[in-house]
Amino acid sequence: MKFSKRALAVKPSATVKVSNLAKQMKADGIDVINLGIGEPDFETPDFIDQAAIEAIKSGKTSFYTPASGIYELKEAVSQRIKEDFDVFYSPDNISITNGAKMALYVLMQALVNENDEVLIPQPGWVSYEQQIVLASAKPVMVKTNGEFKVTIDSLNAVTTKNTRVLVINSPQNPTGTIYTKDELTEIGNWAIMHNVLIIADDIYSSLVYNGNQYTSLIQLDDNIVAQTILVSGLSKAYSMTGWRVGYVAGAPEIISKVNAILSHSTGNPAAVSQYAGIAALTGDQSVVEEMRLAFEDRLNKVFPLLAEVPGFKLQTKPQGAFYLFPNVEEAVRIAGLSNSGELVEELLQKAHVAVVDGAAFGMPGYLRLSYAASLDNLIDAVTRIKNYMLSVN
Ligand code: PLP
Repeated sequence: MKFSKRALAVKPSATVKVSNLAKQMKADGIDVINLGIGEPDFETPDFIDQAAIEAIKSGKTSFYTPASGIYELKEAVSQRIKEDFDVFYSPDNISITNGAKMALYVLMQALVNENDEVLIPQPGWVSYEQQIVLASAKPVMVKTNGEFKVTIDSLNAVTTKNTRVLVINSPQNPTGTIYTKDELTEIGNWAIMHNVLIIADDIYSSLVYNGNQYTSLIQLDDNIVAQTILVSGLSKAYSMTGWRVGYVAGAPEIISKVNAILSHSTGNPAAVSQYAGIAALTGDQSVVEEMRLAFEDRLNKVFPLLAEVPGFKLQTKPQGAFYLFPNVEEAVRIAGLSNSGELVEELLQKAHVAVVDGAAFGMPGYLRLSYAASLDNLIDAVTRIKNYMLSVN
């Protein structure tokens, strides 16, 4: 069989693979705790479900919506951005996509060509690199400092005349790092100077803990905003991963290309999901705060427990998102293994805990644990990991 170069180059998602393996073990009757995937464990709030049910009952399902989403949802996104960040995007400059993942995919399709380079901070979310490969462009990894942040020096070190786009994800998956306003301003000015577009992946912006301050690139001065394309979505804030509602907001000429690509690819995000999305964005926002508080509580309880596991070193305390990213080089050595991928296998097979190898995020020697799981499960999982480490010590 002959395949395209893109299909031959693309690698399947490591997070999805681990999660599927854990789900299979569970189906086989093994008591596995899955900390492998970034999926809030809460039910979607009831008023959002009800809006979707109403949309079904009132027959809003038998037609295509505009490919870039219904106008009412764009208005709801615009209003939410205004309320949360005090920044105005016209609904016309917003596209609704099948999750933020599709937003990022379509943007790569819209923005880059074969020799173009896209900068991805390491560690970075698993799909950025593969989406760039699927756009036939070149992913370029940017080294980060001890706080997992890019600096102007690290950006300069890899920038060439072909650099077109930089992806900034704050709060960051997998580390929970948040860039400060000053850091973002520096990066924004750097991007202007080098004529590099920034994709601001703000999907975790509502999940910020322990009084940490959050600033989005879209809140900086107009020149930086003009250089920035916002990507976000409803999956994490409203526990709506399965509904697949995300969005892009940016300059009209970019949105128009995104819309053209969407019109020939996804058609439209599911109509029912879009009506659910309107309810989520315009309804009672206390549900977002309730989930945020639950994640914060878990972080504060699990972080010190994980820090006690032999060979696990937590470089920073996460400030947002819902992941822990310990360095496990010492744990790998203690267990007599050769890399963090083998530790992932061991933890799955012997401790029955599913986590993801940092290598999937460009940082071998680390593990990613999601704390989007109940506190009982989290404590149980960390105890299992600790017992495994004690057994090999
Ligand atoms: N961006 C980051 C950093 C993520 O972690 C995720 C999901 O895990 C996404 C984007 C995509 O989210 P969704 O497609 O569910 O909106």
